[in-house]
Amino acid sequence: MKNIVVLTGAGISAESGINTFRDSGGLWEGHDVMEVASPEGWRKNPQLVLDFYNMRRKDALKAEPNDAHKALVKLSTYFHVEIITQNVDDLHERAGSENILHLHGKLFESRSTLNPRHIYPIEGWELNLGDKCPRGSQLRPNIVWFGEAVPMMEPAAALAAKADIFIVIGTSLQVYPAASLIDYVGADTEVIVIDPNLPAVKKHPLLTLIAEKASTGALRIVDELIEKYK
Ligand code: NAD
Repeated sequence: MKNIVVLTGAGISAESGINTFRDSGGLWEGHDVMEVASPEGWRKNPQLVLDFYNMRRKDALKAEPNDAHKALVKLSTYFHVEIITQNVDDLHERAGSENILHLHGKLFESRSTLNPRHIYPIEGWELNLGDKCPRGSQLRPNIVWFGEAVPMMEPAAALAAKADIFIVIGTSLQVYPAASLIDYVGADTEVIVIDPNLPAVKKHPLLTLIAEKASTGALRIVDELIEKYK
């Protein structure tokens, strides 16, 4: 059975109504990312950061998985599929995918500001100043912010290195180290990139570029792969 690894970015959730980041001119929902998604931003104005992620949670609760998320579920009935997502939303989970590695954390989790290993679920949409872990430290979103280490990078790179087919959907490949995952795939791995605004990808012997939206592009590719290898 082919081993397929899929790297997804904000673009796969765009058709579910969740805005991407770079499409809106480098601002994320009107904010400089360093204000709302960095340790400096948190130190300067934790209320703003909490409000920002509370809004993102509200948006995510209203959104539904789209055809691209669902196409990856279909793919997993024919192949071994691992999803590496840069997204913090839970639309892959809600579509029914398994084997999902969240590189940049999860919107519906909080973590202790004293010990990053102490992680708690967030029920609903709100995390507020004064919400504390059992040991008394303020909780923050369990998100990997700009300038922070990406602890899941090592397992993600190991997955990429073992892929027979590596599919990239809806990412500008501008955020590192996530963007470097494509460098870990082997020369004999098929690489397929789906994005209406194709990102710059270095030359690869088996590269297919599909300038299409995630929904239609993913459905087509999934059907083609099933037809080709079933
Ligand atoms: P990005 O915003 O940098 O790039 C989005 C990409 O999606 C672009 O290449 C764009 O052309 C493409 N795109 C837009 N509409 C599309 C569609 N319908 N189908 C397919 N592709 C489409 O996103 P990124 O590369 O994921 O990096 C942004 C960072 O911001 C990530 O670290 C992520 O954690 C965070 N973020 C997450 C979410 C989310 O969880 N849904 C949303 C916004 C930002």
